[in-house]
Amino acid sequence: MLELWDLNQPTIPSRSTLYHLDLASIGTASVESLTGYITRLAESHSVYPGVLMEREIAPLVAKQYAGANLHTIYSHTCALNGTGVMASDLVQALNKLTGHNRLHLLTMLSWSKVLPSRALMRSTRAWCPKCYEEQRVNGYEIYEPLLWTLNVVKICPIHQQLLCSRCPHCHESNLPLTWRSRTGHCFKCEKWLGSSSPSSSECKDLAETELEWLVWAANAVGELIAAAPVLENEISKERVAHGLSNCAKHFSEGNIAKFSRLIQTPTNTVWLWCNGKNLPQLDALVRLCFCLRISVLELLTQDVIKITDSSVRLLPKSCQQRKHRAAIKLVNHEQVRSQLEKVLLDHKLPPPSLEATARDLGYHRETLNRNFKDLCRAISTQYDQYERVRYLNSVDKCCEEVRQVVLRLNSQSVYPSEARVSEHLTKPGHLRHKKVRGVLQETRKSLGLKK
Ligand SMILES: [Zn+2]
Ligand SMILES: [Zn+2]
Repeated sequence: MLELWDLNQPTIPSRSTLYHLDLASIGTASVESLTGYITRLAESHSVYPGVLMEREIAPLVAKQYAGANLHTIYSHTCALNGTGVMASDLVQALNKLTGHNRLHLLTMLSWSKVLPSRALMRSTRAWCPKCYEEQRVNGYEIYEPLLWTLNVVKICPIHQQLLCSRCPHCHESNLPLTWRSRTGHCFKCEKWLGSSSPSSSECKDLAETELEWLVWAANAVGELIAAAPVLENEISKERVAHGLSNCAKHFSEGNIAKFSRLIQTPTNTVWLWCNGKNLPQLDALVRLCFCLRISVLELLTQDVIKITDSSVRLLPKSCQQRKHRAAIKLVNHEQVRSQLEKVLLDHKLPPPSLEATARDLGYHRETLNRNFKDLCRAISTQYDQYERVRYLNSVDKCCEEVRQVVLRLNSQSVYPSEARVSEHLTKPGHLRHKKVRGVLQETRKSLGLKK
C-alpha cells in the first residue's frame, strides 16, 4: 500500500442550511449591510430575497411582524440594519442558517446601547454609482455597504460623490430590501445602477466647507462601523454623558449655555445629554464632534477624549438645524427651566407626571412642552417608567394572592373558578393579565384540578 495513502476519515465540518458566503469587508468602514447580504445570499441560491425570507428565515424568527415576511415589514426594512429587535432577530436566524457568528457586524447592533434608533437609518436605499461600477469592472463581488444605509451619511467618502437615491433610468426610489432586490440593480426597473460617468450627484457645486463637513461625517461614521469588531471597552450611556460633560468643562468651563451655543444646539437638549438623561442621536453626535474637532468613536468608547485643537468649527449653513418655531415667551424662562431640572434631579417617589408638574408651576402642559421639549419628555419618561414598574409589581402581588385564594378555596372544597377567585382579589382586573391567568391555571393543575 502506498505510504502516502492516508486512510483516516477526513474531518468534515457540519453543514449549514444556507451557503456560508464570506462577509464583505468585515472590520472596515466598507463592511456590507445585512440587507445587502440577504440579497447576495438569495442570489447565490437563485431565489428572490422575498422567497428566502419567507421560506427559510421567517420560521426561525416566528414573531408578530409575520416573521421577516417582507410584505408585512415593507416600509420598515431599514430597521433590519439598525439597532433594534428586528435586526437582532434576523441576525440570530441567519447566523443559525449560514453557520456564521458575526452577522451582527453587518448592522448597527454593536452600538445599540448608545445610539437612539430615531432617525438613525435611512428609510430608502442610497448608493454610490462609482463604487458599484468599480466593483463590476474589477471583477469584485458586488455588495452594498452598511455605511450607505445611515441617515447622516450623504456622501461616498471614497469618490466624494453624493449618494444617489433615485434610479437614473426609472427615476424611482427603492426600499432597502424588497421581494426582488438585486445587488447593484434598481429594485423597480432592474437596470444596473453603477456608472463611472460624472453624474448630477457630483460634488463640484458644493462649497468647500460643505464638502469638508460631508466627508468628515461619512468618515466619522465609517470609523464607528470599522471599530465594531474590536471594541475593548463596555459601551455605556454613562460614558457618553461623562465625555460630553468633560467637553463642556474644556470648551466652556462647564457653562452648559455657552457650550450649547458653541455646538449650535438648544441648551435644554445639551443639559439632558450631559446629565445622562437623554442620548444624542447619531446626527447630533456627528455634528457636535465636527464642531469640537473630536472623534465620535472616542466620545463613545474612551474615558479620555483627545482634544488637539480648542478652536470650534462652525457647521456649514445647510446643515445647521432649522430654528424652532419662536418659543412662547415665558415670564421667567430661566426660572421655569431650573424648576423643571429640579423635578428631574429630585427623584421624588412617586415622580410627578408632566401634568402635575405643569399644574404646580402654574403653566399649561402644552406651553411647557413648546418651550422645554426635551426636559418635558424626560419628566414624562421618568413618570412612565415608574408607573410601569409599579404596575408589574402589583401584577406580581396579584399572582401570589391568586395562589393563596386557590389553595384556600380548594381546602374548603370549593372549586376555584375564575369568578370565585376574582371575588377575593384586591385587584380583580389583573386576572386579564397573562401572567396572573398562568398562575391560576398552574395552581389548579398542581392540585390535580381540571383547567
Ligand atoms: Zn463611491
Ligand atoms: Zn429603476
